[in-house]
Formats: sequence, structure tokens, C-alpha cells
Amino acid sequence: MRVVTVTILVMLTSLSGCFGDEIFLEEDRGIPGGLTLACLRSSEFTSMNLHVLYEEGYQPEAMELLKQRLDEVCDKPGGINIITEKVDFSHGDTWSADDVRTKRWNIGSDAMSSETLTWYFLFPSGMYEDESVLGVAVDASTVAIFLDSIEDAEGFLGRPSSSEIERSVTVHESGHLLGLVNTVYTSDVDHEDPDHPHHSNNEDSVMYWAVETNTIGSFFSNDIPDEFDNDDKMDLEKMADGTYSTTNQVWG
Ligand SMILES: [Zn+2]
Repeated sequence: MRVVTVTILVMLTSLSGCFGDEIFLEEDRGIPGGLTLACLRSSEFTSMNLHVLYEEGYQPEAMELLKQRLDEVCDKPGGINIITEKVDFSHGDTWSADDVRTKRWNIGSDAMSSETLTWYFLFPSGMYEDESVLGVAVDASTVAIFLDSIEDAEGFLGRPSSSEIERSVTVHESGHLLGLVNTVYTSDVDHEDPDHPHHSNNEDSVMYWAVETNTIGSFFSNDIPDEFDNDDKMDLEKMADGTYSTTNQVWG
């Protein structure tokens, strides 16, 4: 699920300002897709961290696959590193997009440091306020994956298994951070599902809408997609090489 709010921008404006003689400006958190070019290109950031914040008992299994998928599309000659950190979110059972943003920015730090881009992946206990949602991308560098809901979404006799669903949902949400589909660009190819904006109309793409919902277990009886399809990849390539103009970027 791709969550966009304008309230955060208003909040940011009030947070930035003068502090003594020094002007400090809080980092622009952006919208999902706001750091797409920062990942796809190496001109600004040569390496990347995938920083996991997980609650005890919620350590993810998906990160190696995610690293592989991002390696396939992003240009990071300095490498992509996984950082895992166990945290106590001290939060109730229900999460809103604002809750996710607040915890990420309270516990984590900036997405953009000198040469390293950092994306945060939260794995908390509890569920999203819309319990049918398995994962959310809430700003340019923040994703939350709800493993309790994923556990419940497991298919009949474990097909698909909760591990498979977790991997697909995690790659799916990172796809929203990459601006898929048509979030910060407009594709030449008609592959956005008109009934589910910013999702692929191809059920073999990890960006298919059902991947991030609790119907996934009944929707896919065999393999669930865990990679970007050719249209997704072509969109990413055309953003990277400048064929498509890319909007809402929070850097450069
Ligand atoms: Zn989605």
C-alpha cells in the first residue's frame, strides 16, 4: 500500500527553522518514490543500507532476497548492506501510517548521508489499521511489514507459506519506494491496474495489487511473484537513464 499524506509536509515546515545562529533543516522525508533516482543511480549515493528495525520475535527472513532484487535494478558500486537492529517499539496492536513514520524517524536516522542511501524496514508486532494490509510504504525511505497479518494470510496447508508471502510483500513495498507503478513517472507501457492505482496489472509481477493484501493466500495457490516483471524493470531503466522524467525527488 502506498500512503501519501500532505500533513507531513506541513509538519516538516514547522520543524525546520532557526536554532540559535544556526539554521537547521530537517531532512525532507518525501513520498514513496522520492528516493527512486537515489537508488537507481550512483551519481549521489554510491552505497546503500537496508536498515531493519524489528521487534523481538519479528526478525525478518526477506532481506537477502530484497538485497538481491535491489542489486538487480539499483546502481550501487559500493554495495548494498543489510543492517538489523532489534528495537522496542513500545507501541500498541494497531498501526497507522503516521505511527510508522513517527517510530522510524524517532528511532532511525536520515536516509541521506554523505555517500550512503539508507532505507528503513520496520517489522513490528501488531497490525495495520486496515487489517487487510500486509505492508505499507509511508515516505521516501520507510516501509513497514506486518508479520502478524502475514502469518494469518498463509494459504491452505502453508501454500503459499508465510515466509514466501513475507518475501513478496517486502519486495513489493520496496517497489513503491522505487516509484512503481507510475508514482513519480509515467510509463510508455500500459501496465498500471486502473482499479488499483500504482500497481501492476500483471499477476506475475511482484507489483500486482493482491501481493500486499491478506487475500494473497487464496489468490495464489502456487507460486507468488517475488520479482519485478519486464515492464517494471523497463520503467526503472528509463528513469535511471533519463528517458522518463522523474518527479518529486527529494535530493539533487
Ligand atoms: Zn502496493
